[in-house]
Amino acid sequence: MTLEPERPMVEIRGLGRRYGESWAVRDVSFDVRRGEIFGIIGPNGAGKSTTIKILAGLLAPTEGEAVVNGMRCDDPRHKARIGYLPEESPLYEDMTAGAYLRFFARLYEVPRAEAQRRIDSALEALQLDEDARDGKKIGDMSKGMRRKVAIARSLVNDPDLVIYDEPASGLDPVASAYILDLVRSLARRGKTVVFSAHNLFHMERICDRVLILRKGEVVALGSMKEIREATRGTQYVATVSVPIAEASPGEKGFEVTVESLEAVKGVEKRALDAGGRLVEVRTKDMTLEEIFLRTTAKA
Ligand code: ADP
Ligand code: MG
Repeated sequence: MTLEPERPMVEIRGLGRRYGESWAVRDVSFDVRRGEIFGIIGPNGAGKSTTIKILAGLLAPTEGEAVVNGMRCDDPRHKARIGYLPEESPLYEDMTAGAYLRFFARLYEVPRAEAQRRIDSALEALQLDEDARDGKKIGDMSKGMRRKVAIARSLVNDPDLVIYDEPASGLDPVASAYILDLVRSLARRGKTVVFSAHNLFHMERICDRVLILRKGEVVALGSMKEIREATRGTQYVATVSVPIAEASPGEKGFEVTVESLEAVKGVEKRALDAGGRLVEVRTKDMTLEEIFLRTTAKA
């Protein structure tokens, strides 16, 4: 028996979106596999929200195709199966979290008992206490708490795919670490997660694969390992026994960081010329942050 390869959860092909004369994103293609945590990263204006809104079926592409779960993103059946968190989520200020979530569950026609179960479990996972559920009005909540309520809302329809636009942005480190942990637990429960970020806080640790956008174009795509290979994100630290130019003192001698094995040979030659020798060579993987700064800074 042969197993058919499973169709990816998200299939984006040659996607482009234009506003007037300028393209917000252009020629963007990627897949997201089922159960994967997929990060879209890039500086402000890179096209993250545009891509995410197209995925969520809120914005029509100018060119190309966006398919989720085998359905085009503008298909209403698709929208019923996703959980979308916008960059800024307006909430009903006068409602309590519990009332607000029950209201959305009714919109999605979730049976009452099931809705209460999901709401309780989301609020518990988000550590919103009794007061936050049914005492405090949303308008009186902190920014972090409001974000949690918006996330709980994205889960009331028990989506297969969650699409979160900068879920942790603007939150203090504790609240953002909390939300990123939640993202992981959603993936453990079998959901596919696509989320964006303009900084790299925890992205490397959390994402299975990432897409790096800059000015609407793809600059890198893949697992950290693949991105390192593609962007030459591996460096070599050569330790030599003598202080040659650009070397800095290290534990076993003087260290020079270079980006290829040829360059290591050059360092060795300079050490020999100075009467010393090559002591050791270590590889050092660049962090996602270093790769990001390098790929997004290119003119
Ligand atoms: P990001 O979320 O990465 O910050 P966006 O997708 O919001 O980026 O924006 C990408 C580009 O598209 C930016 O140059 C932005 O100014 C432009 N853009 C986004 N929305 C609109 C709009 N409604 N009208 C005109 N330009 C827009
Ligand atoms: Mg944005």
